[in-house]
Amino acid sequence: MSPMTFMAEPVGGRFGDFGGRYVPESLVPACAAVAAAFRDAWADKTFRDELDGLLSVYAGRPTPLTPASNLSAQLGISLWLKREDLAHTGSHKINNVLGQGLLARRMGRTRLIAETGAGQHGVATATAAALLGLSATVYMGTRDIERQRLNVHRMEMLGATVVPVTSGSRTLKDATNEAMRAWVADTERAHFLLGSVGGPHPYPWMVREFQRVIGSEARRQAPVVPDVVVACVGGGSNAAGTFAGFVDTSSRLIGVEAAGGAAMSNGAPGVVHGARSMVLQDDEGQVAEAESIAAGLDYPGVGPEHAYLGAIGRSEYRTVTDDEVVEAVRRLARTEGIICALESAHAVAWVLRAAGTADLPAGSAVLLTLSGRGDKDMHTLIGGTA
Ligand SMILES: *Cc1c(COP(=O)(O)O)cnc(C)c1O
Repeated sequence: MSPMTFMAEPVGGRFGDFGGRYVPESLVPACAAVAAAFRDAWADKTFRDELDGLLSVYAGRPTPLTPASNLSAQLGISLWLKREDLAHTGSHKINNVLGQGLLARRMGRTRLIAETGAGQHGVATATAAALLGLSATVYMGTRDIERQRLNVHRMEMLGATVVPVTSGSRTLKDATNEAMRAWVADTERAHFLLGSVGGPHPYPWMVREFQRVIGSEARRQAPVVPDVVVACVGGGSNAAGTFAGFVDTSSRLIGVEAAGGAAMSNGAPGVVHGARSMVLQDDEGQVAEAESIAAGLDYPGVGPEHAYLGAIGRSEYRTVTDDEVVEAVRRLARTEGIICALESAHAVAWVLRAAGTADLPAGSAVLLTLSGRGDKDMHTLIGGTA
């Protein structure tokens, strides 16, 4: 597979050596049913039109591409921001949940099961469920519940049931395990609405396709083909959707990870949550705990397509520290009047550090996906602790 065939369904769910479908026997038919339904829906103009309609009149797409003129002048580059923070519910996650929500309904499912870290995906799932007349059960680690209480209240306000997860690190990795277990027990009624580009086939492909709208819009909106396209990477969905719009250009594609959750930079090949990818692991190959100020990046794995694009040298990955991230939120807020999410600030932090160096030479045209807004993080930023 070459990046030129990027649009097609990956054969067997494989991106080179990565991807696949490593799930218990009992989940294989359920995954196959989702794959068949998505293949069919994605080729169906009626489905695409319905989704495009919701993205437009409900989610607020297209999101703007904003020139960050003040910061550009300070840094000696041309920086444009793809404003996913302005999408309904405050991040790019709405793109994926509306797609999978419509798919679940098309499959005759009545219930959505989801995992959440920062709570953004849980809120987005609860939102789609409310809109589409489905029920929602969201699994969330108790550590994240403490950090992101407002999002728990938002989910409950939207009518979702939030199930606290107390196992392991009590964060996204554990919530994902529990959500997959719940799906095993209810595959007839429930659709597992995975929030990023990880998991068994078809999720990495399907979620990238639902997030492709970010990159497609940005490609149309950008005044030039950017020298560099940059996005933060947790599971990798906002980056995958952004990269999809530029993978066939000469733009460098850069994903920025949290120093404490850098599966691409510090991980090794392994299997987590149904896919072979790059995974943070200990000496025995056990999945390690991730640690980041941004709950949405607190994940030890990354989507298999990133592992593949990284392996063939088409995309590159960098890490930034929590301190750089907090400074990046402040700098963007004060120069451009935009308070971005801690997750998104990882991409900003790399630009701040790299501008004017060999990694990002002066004069570069840079397109940065601002994945979400920072309201949910204000207590972390004010209190200074995660
Ligand atoms: C969830 C989230 C992320 C991380 O998820 P990806 O799948 O890597 O995009 C990044 N930014 C925001 C605002 C989020 O809510």
